[in-house]
Amino acid sequence: MYKSFLITLLSFCVFLSAPSAASGTHDYSFKVSRGDAFYKFFFSTGLSGKLLKKLMASDERAQKLNNIYPGDKFRITLNDNHELDQIIYSPANDNPLFITYDGQSFNYGKANIQPIGKLSQTIITIQKSLNYDAKKAGVAAEVTKMMVDNFSWEMDLSRDLRKGDKFMLSWNGGKTPIAMIYVGSRKTIALFSYKNTLGQNKYFTSKGATINDTFAFAPTKYNRISSGFTKRRFHPTLKIYRSHRGTDFAAPSGTPVYAPAKGIVKYRATLSGYGNVIYLKHGSNYLTVYAHLSKFAAGLKSGKKVKKGELIGYVGTTGQSTGPHLHYEIRVNGIHQDPEKIKLPKQSFVPTSAMPEFQKRARQILQNLNIK
Ligand SMILES: [Zn+2]
Repeated sequence: MYKSFLITLLSFCVFLSAPSAASGTHDYSFKVSRGDAFYKFFFSTGLSGKLLKKLMASDERAQKLNNIYPGDKFRITLNDNHELDQIIYSPANDNPLFITYDGQSFNYGKANIQPIGKLSQTIITIQKSLNYDAKKAGVAAEVTKMMVDNFSWEMDLSRDLRKGDKFMLSWNGGKTPIAMIYVGSRKTIALFSYKNTLGQNKYFTSKGATINDTFAFAPTKYNRISSGFTKRRFHPTLKIYRSHRGTDFAAPSGTPVYAPAKGIVKYRATLSGYGNVIYLKHGSNYLTVYAHLSKFAAGLKSGKKVKKGELIGYVGTTGQSTGPHLHYEIRVNGIHQDPEKIKLPKQSFVPTSAMPEFQKRARQILQNLNIK
């Protein structure tokens, strides 16, 4: 019985870490599960123990491969002769590590950033709205949507734009701009494209971070989850069945509530059901709701920009509530999602190894646009 259990366990593990060809037959992608080790991935591509030993001795950075965690990703690429070409290690919470092999030695941290050729520009001067003026300037709707998705993390495009504000797009021949820059009377926000290890093009600030934030799980320190997200439940006060479209965090009255990610206060009100409630908007797609608060943080009003971890209010039991708790909702494009289950966006970063080139290119683009 023990033996069959082991066999089951083994086949389970093999299943979990089976390589999946990303593109072509020599390109393997792996996602780390509990109990995985790098050598298992390495050997599953057919590479030798001798090469693994050489890799581990090649540089102290190789030690990172021995400290892997569930959720981390690997990509191992072999050349046509089934020899190692490149290893990309993408930890869930850190910059990727690039290791290339030329048959003789290992090279660390070489990332490819496309050199810039002759740049062209589009300048959108705000007269009415970003959507209207971008269309007028001949910008494709998908590009405008990308601009809205990015800039909405830093500003409320429906109320923060002033006549005469500019959006500048820099093009390097592709369908998407290599830079999008907002130049307003009070601030400038510059974003530059960078292709990550998965081949996705994203926009990063000159500091190498995407403009979106990573969400904290809970917006308050809580004792327990007193009620989860359900489509249908019995309501103790109303004595009826109804859905609960959020998560209730039980905590004493007065416990601080913090913004789980940077955002903009969309709405602050006292309602009969929600009691004292705050709506925060994060980017263009995400909205979070905080209900039954005993009070709001001082100075919190709609339109205010809040940082991740900033105090927004205090737990209470105002409105229709049976005891002190925070009722927390997450809506994506208007649809309620289960805060305990939803996969939220994460901030990502340009790998440290690529930063000098990335920043050099950013400076060139800004110079080209005559922006300091
Ligand atoms: Zn609730």
